[in-house]
Amino acid sequence: MSRYALSHLSDSTLLRDLKSLVARDRTTTAELLAHLAEVDERKLYLLAAYPSMYAWCVGELGLCEQAAFKRIRAARAARQYPAIFPAIAEGRLHLSAVVRLAGHLTPDNAGGLLAAAAHKNLAELEKLLAERFPQPDVATRLEALAGNPVLQQLSSRTVAPDERGNFDLAPAAVEPLSPRPRVVPLAPARYVLQVTLAQRTHDKLQHAKALLGHAVPSGDLAEVLDRALEALIEKLERRKCATASRPRATAPRRSNDPRHIPAAVRREVWAHDGGRCTFVSDAGHRCGERVRLEFDHVEPVARGGRATVAGLRLRCRAHNQYEAERVFGAGFMAHKRRGRDMRATVGVAPAPEAIAAAPAPAPEARTAAPPAPDVGDDVIPWLRALGARADEARRAVAQSGAASDAPLEARVRLALRQLSPAHRRIGPGREARV
Ligand SMILES: [Zn+2]
Repeated sequence: MSRYALSHLSDSTLLRDLKSLVARDRTTTAELLAHLAEVDERKLYLLAAYPSMYAWCVGELGLCEQAAFKRIRAARAARQYPAIFPAIAEGRLHLSAVVRLAGHLTPDNAGGLLAAAAHKNLAELEKLLAERFPQPDVATRLEALAGNPVLQQLSSRTVAPDERGNFDLAPAAVEPLSPRPRVVPLAPARYVLQVTLAQRTHDKLQHAKALLGHAVPSGDLAEVLDRALEALIEKLERRKCATASRPRATAPRRSNDPRHIPAAVRREVWAHDGGRCTFVSDAGHRCGERVRLEFDHVEPVARGGRATVAGLRLRCRAHNQYEAERVFGAGFMAHKRRGRDMRATVGVAPAPEAIAAAPAPAPEARTAAPPAPDVGDDVIPWLRALGARADEARRAVAQSGAASDAPLEARVRLALRQLSPAHRRIGPGREARV
């Protein structure tokens, strides 16, 4: 069997081996940097007929330009501040962090700065550097892209060193322009936003600026952007998590749909979970994702779960699907999604267990209901996906006694009860969520 074919490994073995490889990779990287630094110091690349360490790394070692740049930069910093070697070997600092720190290290600050940078990702590191080495605000600029000589020069710029093999690395925050959108911390609570706008967005920005003429007479783009985002966030929050500046004093309309989540409940669940996914790993790591969140019933509706604050939680789409696939199997869930897509195209309101934290479909989308399918036609594939034979599935549907107008989930649930225990057992301590 090929050493690269790993499908036979158990999850725990796969994860254990991968962690061990990452640890080995860090040790190797630290040793590699030490070797690079020594070759660099002895200028052995000259003997090998290369003009610089960088050219030698690319030409002789076969490193790509970016890899050569990063390693040489890190090797030189580590040679000067040897505490970097063990920090890399032990996983406290990654290569990119060393590259980013290199220009700021001095004999006086190295100890403290390296310690403060330990275990930080790049965004956290940028913040740390902005706090320790604050940059002045940059001027607000809105420039046409085509023909901009500064931008053209920058977009053709590479990380290649100069003729002496030295790199000119200005702090990222003060680079004048680059084609990549980015938000870079500049100083405590100050950020640079750089983005390329389409013509229509540019026009909207100018329009907003004009409309804000009285409120923001200076036309300051940062202020215009702040107000635009405030308006957008308020609108989205109202739609997604049912927040309202003045919740209605009157009693909300009661719905007979057990899946209906009253606005007050949505607000409270959203606040309770902090607007973040609540999935927690066995090791205690919380996902915390903030986008594509869905309201998930802790106890499925078909089992009596209700849309209460205690009965709901926020889950990101990935974790909602992950749990569903863990319970039902990937094939089953793929079938379910196909069915949902199909219903969406013919105009039936979706009936997922998790109700997406998204705007409800337009009323007209609910009106064009398709002819009712034969009861069970849409249930059988789900039972088949759970391992039932075709005849078993048909029998289970027939015996389930489900009303044809019951939600698909309820009909699957009833049919599942007619199957043998082997088909119903779908996971340790878990129940099927349709
Ligand atoms: Zn998640």
